[in-house]
Amino acid sequence: MAETGTLYLCATPIGNLGDITYRAVETLRTADVIAAEDTRHTRGLLAHYDIHTPMTSYHEHNKDEKGAELIARMQAGETVVCVSDAGLPGIADPGADLARRAIVEGIAVTPLPGANAALSALICAGLPLEGFTFVGFLPRKEKKRREVLTRVAAYPETLIFYEAPHRLRETLAVLAEALGAERRACAARELTKKFEEFRRMTLGELLAHYRESEPRGEFVLIVAGADESTAAAADAAAETLMERYEAHIAAGLDKKEAMRRTAQELGISRRDVYQAVLAGER
Ligand code: SAM
Repeated sequence: MAETGTLYLCATPIGNLGDITYRAVETLRTADVIAAEDTRHTRGLLAHYDIHTPMTSYHEHNKDEKGAELIARMQAGETVVCVSDAGLPGIADPGADLARRAIVEGIAVTPLPGANAALSALICAGLPLEGFTFVGFLPRKEKKRREVLTRVAAYPETLIFYEAPHRLRETLAVLAEALGAERRACAARELTKKFEEFRRMTLGELLAHYRESEPRGEFVLIVAGADESTAAAADAAAETLMERYEAHIAAGLDKKEAMRRTAQELGISRRDVYQAVLAGER
């Protein structure tokens, strides 16, 4: 029986084509197949490095059938390199599902490290790096978005968001409202490209700037974590939550119903109420 193959998760450039490692180029060249989010997009990179390995598409909409097919190929001993359009596969991009399947099947999964927009923006933002939370794209639906923002508003760690240019203004407005216009932030634009730019200012100032000038290109938003005063406000919010919950319990509701009512009244998820109640009861 053939020895089982390997799944490489390969970083590709986020702008500047030079941002790829020797090992990544070599592995792309010698692999049996490259599983690419968009084969037309990746063709440019392969042409630049004179790589002629066959490609197959692997993305959100074919991940079930294509994932199974790729797993079978690795079980037969082939080497598969998974790439997305830019940066690390699996980070706001396809790749995570294939990695999970391969792990379950006992196939070796290994990284070819390199460019990533989130961490590249983070290290240049001038904000604390001791701890950080990657949020990525905020949900489009308002309710889900509010749940995420309610959860992260009190985090002391620096926050990382991805956003498309046509949604940047709206997202800045939402962030300024949910996290406070005074929070320090950085809009990192067009990283590694000709018009790379970092705007280091508060969320309110960023919003004012981009209301004046049209956001163009790709953006990562880095936002400072909650300081003590924000954390105190979050504590106060948690207190209100507990008060409501306990009032429902005192009125005779069972725990589940009390949580459901509290979530409904505050417009947050039951999960958030559950976690806050657990923390409050400790
Ligand atoms: N997998 C990628 C990574 O590892 O960074 C992220 C892919 S996600 C679909 C695309 C988002 O990443 C963009 O909307 C933007 O927020 C961010 N991004 C990608 N390239 C960028 C760049 N050159 N400059 C700024 N942001 C970028």
